[in-house]
Amino acid sequence: MNYFEYRNRVLHAEDVPVSEIAARFGTPVYIYSARTLRRHFRVMREAFGGADLLICYAMKALSNLSILQLFAKMGSGFDIVSGGELMRCLKAGADPKTIVFSGVGKTDDEITAALKTGILMINVESRPELHRIAEIAARLKLRAPVSLRVNPDLDPHTHPHISTGHRTSKFGVPLSEIFDYYADARTLSSLEVIGLSTHIGSQITELEPFTEATGKIAGIVEGLRADGLALRYLDMGGGLGIPYQEESPPPSEYAAALLKRLGGLGLKLIIEPGRMMVGNAGILVTRVLYIKDTDVKRFVVIDGAMNDLLRPVLYEAYHEIRPVDARASRPSVTADIVGPVCESGDFFAQAREIPEPHPGDLLAVMSAGAYGFVMASNYNSRPRAAELLVDGRQVHLIRHRETFEDLVRGEPLVDVPADGNA
Ligand SMILES: *Cc1c(COP(=O)(O)O)cnc(C)c1O
Repeated sequence: MNYFEYRNRVLHAEDVPVSEIAARFGTPVYIYSARTLRRHFRVMREAFGGADLLICYAMKALSNLSILQLFAKMGSGFDIVSGGELMRCLKAGADPKTIVFSGVGKTDDEITAALKTGILMINVESRPELHRIAEIAARLKLRAPVSLRVNPDLDPHTHPHISTGHRTSKFGVPLSEIFDYYADARTLSSLEVIGLSTHIGSQITELEPFTEATGKIAGIVEGLRADGLALRYLDMGGGLGIPYQEESPPPSEYAAALLKRLGGLGLKLIIEPGRMMVGNAGILVTRVLYIKDTDVKRFVVIDGAMNDLLRPVLYEAYHEIRPVDARASRPSVTADIVGPVCESGDFFAQAREIPEPHPGDLLAVMSAGAYGFVMASNYNSRPRAAELLVDGRQVHLIRHRETFEDLVRGEPLVDVPADGNA
């Protein structure tokens, strides 16, 4: 469910025609819907009913400050994966006691910043990291709240690049060693061992992997309890898919699947949804530059490219592509929709059936809110796109389109002689 809909056959972002926005702010441009973001957050929270729940929005999916501020105001916590994300969500008004820190490669500086900030907990992914956190906490003369992230060794049936719950992945503590890790952690006096975490993958479109994970997780909680360790937090990560093309389970079914086995454990439940919160709350709007016909194919060349949206080539991801103005009736054609970047991987769709686009037309790449702008780069010295947040009739510019000055900021022009060291 989202608020990008046709009215009189013109695509609207909430109450604003997308063509109007493109005329005013240029293309390519990311447009997010505030109403959709609010709705997704509410639906997820309500799905868990009266359960003791903290939603920690996985901000790597979309980390614009204004979006983070909206989440903070709705009462969301944050799942962060770097020191940069910590600074971002604090700047946006996050309550430190709602921040959890995940990731396999936290640096000393990042751990120090997290501990000084007083975040809720650090999700630990390896033994050396566990000991490093203990050392840093001891030096800072405080106790570090930690949770161990277990790798439950299962197959979430998703793209290999976004599958994290199998034992061959770099993430989490091996299931076979988890009790050992807890025993080790309990001997370190500068640690406060308060939680158990997991995160099995992303764009998961079946309930079964989540159900399998809850069984393994509940078993660990019960085993630890028998060992005299009472945890306070159970962090089940994110991963719920969205309907790019095939259906995904609704939040109500996801919540029921988690609560069935975990609801009675008496722990505060944390979830870290990213994609589900923001995926179809955003679109990327681009303009058609050229139609290029060869003897084997038709290419629709647009002004958006892989530097703006990497998902199609990175994950073989499918994004629906719609004409912004669908008033004229056009025959259906099959085409590759490609950008200007000098890479054959620079495409948004291949062999796609679409109402015949003409130069100058606007196309909307749907469900581009998650892992879209955040992966944008300056490859080919292309300025990154603007980001807009639409709320009803209002259009807020939440990130300026980059300029040439932005592209070369931080690059001193160092004068090295052309003829070697004379
Ligand atoms: C990426 C990530 C998430 C969010 O995953 P989604 O599929 O976007 O819900 C949650 N937790 C951790 C630890 C992550 O790395």
